[in-house]
Amino acid sequence: MKTINIAIDGPAGAGKSTIAKMVSKKLGYIYVDTGALYRTVALYITENNIADEDIEKSLAKADVSLRFVDGTQRVFLGDRDVSDLIRTPAISMAASRTSAIPAVRAYLFETQQKIARENNIIMDGRDIGTVVLPNADVKIFLTASAEERANRRYKELAEKPDCPTYQEILDDIIKRDYADMHREISPLKQADDAVLVDTTTLNLEESAEAIVKVIESKIG
Ligand code: C5P
Repeated sequence: MKTINIAIDGPAGAGKSTIAKMVSKKLGYIYVDTGALYRTVALYITENNIADEDIEKSLAKADVSLRFVDGTQRVFLGDRDVSDLIRTPAISMAASRTSAIPAVRAYLFETQQKIARENNIIMDGRDIGTVVLPNADVKIFLTASAEERANRRYKELAEKPDCPTYQEILDDIIKRDYADMHREISPLKQADDAVLVDTTTLNLEESAEAIVKVIESKIG
């Protein structure tokens, strides 16, 4: 049976995961967060102090996997659930760096394609519509201004201890955008056949609605 694949790409902090989760619930599809896979690989490389030239060899033993617990994606290193450990600024920056290494992208390529072959999915990332699922039924490029993305992130973190300043968050976002858009392999860019959705002035519900409309217009 042919599965339905919806690709959502865009820069860090555009709201991809929150919005994709809302839309996937509505449609009854599985939501796949590919950033979590890159973060898990970054954690593995960091924890084990692996030099760039040894990454390819080491990844063969890494055992990174996606599992679904009560419909929610969790990421595992072997039998260890690392879904919460990977959500730190240090791992964000490490993932941005290590995701530019060809062996890392090659390692995660098949994991992503397999889950899309076997399930109706909404998959978010940076190169889903361009590289991983070039034949996706619907492609969306979700973005918002860097300032608005920093603003949202700042509000999210404001309550927590050690909250970075707005300026630090904005600088991080700009750095990550630049790295993601300028790397040689699978850079972040809008696929020719992707629909652009800019959420700068939209709230979450409005953004999800805009995406559902695009999906309905493509697949009814
Ligand atoms: O989406 P998230 O911010 O969790 O992704 C972490 C990092 O992983 C990104 O900055 C990006 O460098 C990388 N990534 C990628 N390709 C994807 C998903 C994420 O290169 N499909």
